[in-house]
Amino acid sequence: MRIQVAINDGVLAVEVGGKSISLDPKRDSHSDFTFVSHAHTDHLSLGKKKRNGSRKILASEATAVIANSRGHDLETPIATPEEYDLVDTGHILGSRGFLIPDELFYTGDISIRDRAFLKGVRPPKAKNLIVESTFARPEYVFPSLEQCIHETNELISKMYSRGIPLILMGYPLGKAQLLTEFFRHWDPLIVHESVHEMNSVYRQLGVPLKEGMSFSQARERGMFQRGVPWIMISPFMSRGAEFVKTMKSCCNAVTVGFTGWATRARFGQVMGLDYAIPLSDHCDCNELLEIVRHCNPEKVYTIHGFADYLAMRLRSLGYEAEALMWQNKRKGESPRQIRKKPVSKNQSLIDSYFN
Ligand SMILES: [Zn+2]
Ligand SMILES: [Zn+2]
Repeated sequence: MRIQVAINDGVLAVEVGGKSISLDPKRDSHSDFTFVSHAHTDHLSLGKKKRNGSRKILASEATAVIANSRGHDLETPIATPEEYDLVDTGHILGSRGFLIPDELFYTGDISIRDRAFLKGVRPPKAKNLIVESTFARPEYVFPSLEQCIHETNELISKMYSRGIPLILMGYPLGKAQLLTEFFRHWDPLIVHESVHEMNSVYRQLGVPLKEGMSFSQARERGMFQRGVPWIMISPFMSRGAEFVKTMKSCCNAVTVGFTGWATRARFGQVMGLDYAIPLSDHCDCNELLEIVRHCNPEKVYTIHGFADYLAMRLRSLGYEAEALMWQNKRKGESPRQIRKKPVSKNQSLIDSYFN
């Protein structure tokens, strides 16, 4: 089967059997099908208005529900044609990879670790693999999930004994729901309003997350005073954010950020976090290689993050590998590096890392 994979006009698309499928396009394209791997903003087209409804969307129902709850107006996915398959990728609720059995597998964002209600994937075999490369560099080796949870529980316990509350920060879709689940046994559990909304979408989709107390309920109950410990699940905010400043001055709260980027030494310090835990919804560099081994492809395409690096590493291991690059790429930089320039404020640096 002849398969063509390319980025044209900023849209990654695969052509096969006379049909074209665009993969996580950021803009409308003229392909026969549009595949949306999951509901993170960097994988959805930016338009918020309803289009003429002519796109044929391939996605999980959960992705459509979550995307629409975030204001994206994603059309209802069609039934997946029988020559294709959508494979759970364990990244966030509803995340899928695109599979043409034996021929092509596109990972979208992927994790092979079991995490609470998310099951890590065992990637399928395919002759062509398009694999994300977010954490492909060798410095990104994540500790076990158990270790991350254990370390956090110890920290919470230590702070509680001193009457100090903690703000546990993560991306509001995906990470925040896992944090709500991992640390549900701590009381009181407060959830920031944006997390509260997404948690209730997860509950509608069948994930029995603890309800917790919303930020406004907690405020009404007078929880925000010195000496009263609690944990709050919140989106990432820098030390300079008004909210964090208020929580620090009223209650002495400490901040803990959860992201794979925390593998880097001094990451927490640079980001203005008190603590940083390398808990990720992506694969680390070894797990990405494991995916390639399992998939056993004849050709690998790498995309996102350290795509150049991963392609080079795979070639040194004997694979035919090519980095797929967006047109605005400058030599030697990943799209992520380009996006984060110029960095004027800590918050924009944080946004560039946690999207
Ligand atoms: Zn994602
Ligand atoms: Zn992504």
